[in-house]
Amino acid sequence: MLHGEIGKILGRQRVQKSIALSTQGSLTRLQFGYMFSNLTGTPFWVMLSVMKVLRECNLCGSNEFTEYARKKGRVTSRVFTIVKCQECGLVFVNPRLTAEENYSLYGLDYFKGEGFDPSVDYCSLVEKQDVEKRRESEAIIDKISLFKKSKDIRVLDVGCATGSFVKHLEDRGYENVIGLELSASAGELARQYCRSDIVIADFLSHDFRDEKFDVINATEVIEHVRDPLAFFTKVKIILDDQGLFIYSTGNIDSLYSKVFGAKWPYLNPEGHLFYYSPETLKRYFQKVGLKARDFRDLSDVEKKVVLRSEGQIAAFLLGDVGKNDPGIKGVCFRVAKKVPRSISGRLLAVFVGKYKLPLAFNG
Ligand SMILES: [Zn+2]
Repeated sequence: MLHGEIGKILGRQRVQKSIALSTQGSLTRLQFGYMFSNLTGTPFWVMLSVMKVLRECNLCGSNEFTEYARKKGRVTSRVFTIVKCQECGLVFVNPRLTAEENYSLYGLDYFKGEGFDPSVDYCSLVEKQDVEKRRESEAIIDKISLFKKSKDIRVLDVGCATGSFVKHLEDRGYENVIGLELSASAGELARQYCRSDIVIADFLSHDFRDEKFDVINATEVIEHVRDPLAFFTKVKIILDDQGLFIYSTGNIDSLYSKVFGAKWPYLNPEGHLFYYSPETLKRYFQKVGLKARDFRDLSDVEKKVVLRSEGQIAAFLLGDVGKNDPGIKGVCFRVAKKVPRSISGRLLAVFVGKYKLPLAFNG
């Protein structure tokens, strides 16, 4: 039933999109770029586009950067430079696409795994009710319930995409949930899929009208934002006293990142603009008044749950990367995914290293 419904919605959106393109005649530069790219391999707008240069580090204000890596974007075919701040160690894309070009990346194509990051295939996951995606959501909920026992809490899921996490929260008995999504095409899908309120808006400019949340979740979001300092400041403002900010993002200091270097699959410089370490995130949280809590500060029970959860999340992440990589890396990840989770979970969690990223509390 659900499978059919989502399929119909996707089909309808595809038709609506093609009608819009053929009748309105107003292509965005990125859409035009896609078309031109098919003919020449290099989008026309890339030649016209002026990249946005960051003069100051978003975290510490320093203007001294060294080159960390260079990587070609999948959509634009442009080679991006990724730099590291000499003062605080924050790694980020510089120069980067403009805000308008950035926004254009998040059409329905992106959520179907056809954009700058092929591992994002949320539409098909929603259609298939993907087991691994559900396990990932369950793992995040396990972490939340470590610190927030009651289900009668206000939860905001920032960057809810097609709504799978919001739906899984509903299925686990959380009734007071809001999903927020910047992309209208993904947000509309989430509205069809979930009972909860889905707000289609930019997190920074949306007016929450004094509303406060006990938990703010941001799964794979903070690497996309253009101004992390403003993002974390807003998290602090709308988080209730004792509230929890929970998130997931790549750890640039992980073994996973160090083994692959410039070939780390997480380096997708068109849309992944910032690459954090436990240290840079801790500094961000301290700067905006959130209390960072390290893995080593957790109790033994909490550590066990966090490691198990991160093992599930890592298996989902690597499985997705493996699915899209025809080379040796893909083979390794697919084999790792077959190993029973009771054996592989902890190893995967240590390899991916997200468990080392600090949790953040308000107060
Ligand atoms: Zn810095």
